[in-house]
Amino acid sequence: MRIIQHGEPNIFHKSRRVRRAVLRGRGIRITALALAAVLVLSLSGCAMRGGSDGNSPDGQEKTEAETFTATNFVMDTVLQETIYGSEDVTKEIADRLSEIEIGQLSWREENSEVAQINTRCGEGESVVMSDDFYHWTEVSLDLAKKSGGAFDPTIGNLTRLWNIEGENPSVPAQADIDEALKHVGYGYINIEETDKTISMAQGCTLDLGAVGKGIACDVTRDYLEGQDGVSGAVVAVGGSILAYGSKPDGSDWKVAIQDPEKEEGEYMGVLSLPGTVCVSTSGDYEKYFIQDGKRYHHILDPATGYPSESGLSSVTVICPDEGEWKDDAGLLSDGLCTACFVLGREKGMKLLEQYGMEGVFIDKDKNVSVTDGIADSFEILNEEYQIQ
Ligand code: ADP
Ligand code: MG
Repeated sequence: MRIIQHGEPNIFHKSRRVRRAVLRGRGIRITALALAAVLVLSLSGCAMRGGSDGNSPDGQEKTEAETFTATNFVMDTVLQETIYGSEDVTKEIADRLSEIEIGQLSWREENSEVAQINTRCGEGESVVMSDDFYHWTEVSLDLAKKSGGAFDPTIGNLTRLWNIEGENPSVPAQADIDEALKHVGYGYINIEETDKTISMAQGCTLDLGAVGKGIACDVTRDYLEGQDGVSGAVVAVGGSILAYGSKPDGSDWKVAIQDPEKEEGEYMGVLSLPGTVCVSTSGDYEKYFIQDGKRYHHILDPATGYPSESGLSSVTVICPDEGEWKDDAGLLSDGLCTACFVLGREKGMKLLEQYGMEGVFIDKDKNVSVTDGIADSFEILNEEYQIQ
């Protein structure tokens, strides 16, 4: 997925394929792709300034908005920021997101809130959460419930077993999958609103990683709302994008959707969206390995313990900045695309309806289904795809 601005693509949404390459580069194997990605990052690690024409479509002079861009690496993925306005807040946003990653969401950080929760709940304690963390957990558990467990924030044991992002992943033994599944189930977690505590059954772990990038979009929007010097912004955190406010020329945001069958950067369609909106995509092409000619991807079906086989190759979810879920548009777009991928087209569409959100579903036969609310905003770019 990528945002195209001024008809000239200046935001490069690096998918998880790049992240994977970058991670390899940090670890054992350095691929050509990793080198390319590292180059992109190091070239644009600091913010760049640029001007804009400052004209509105009706020809009236508008206050001149500058453009600030920056590329960083947070939450194991590429963070691309473009800020329109009089103030460069790219660094403030990147710092805030790193803070949340290290202090709250990353289970790899021993002292993060999630790591502490898992350790202490594992010892049978009931743990008091921060207000933010309580809220994210509550919304995630609600999504788990509404999706019938297709999205499940207790899936950590199973993900770690498959280790798809690690070196040399392979299909785990059935006995190990069965064992991991014993501890997967959102019902094993209990949270109390009155004192904001959490407790869990032995062996169960909480992992908000699947919605981390969406949370990053929500936190960013919250921050931008307090910044008078910012009139518009595009912040892409891996597969989740926040388009905020308006573009200096007043035109819609253009969000391009990756062609699941093609190289990164080749798009099958484009969405035109006005105002503030969160858009997330989950696809089976992002992270995977191949064993005996079969592809095993990273979106796991908690019902089987295996990569989901719902017939879909990608789901994009669009959450408008209005209604009941306004404050959680990022978290929910991120979680819902995973949930919808697992549920498949029909059940996925029903789930989106329940939330009042929109989506683009692409199946393996290149059929595309678009929810009614955005049908007029979506355009096919590759004629091999047909709208159903
Ligand atoms: P995407 O948004 O494409 O799913 P992310 O990087 O946001 O990718 O999330 C990937 C993580 O999602 C995996 O590491 C895994 O822990 C988690 N995950 C995989 N399947 C599910 C699921 N059914 N429910 C919740 N989390 C899942
Ligand atoms: Mg996700």
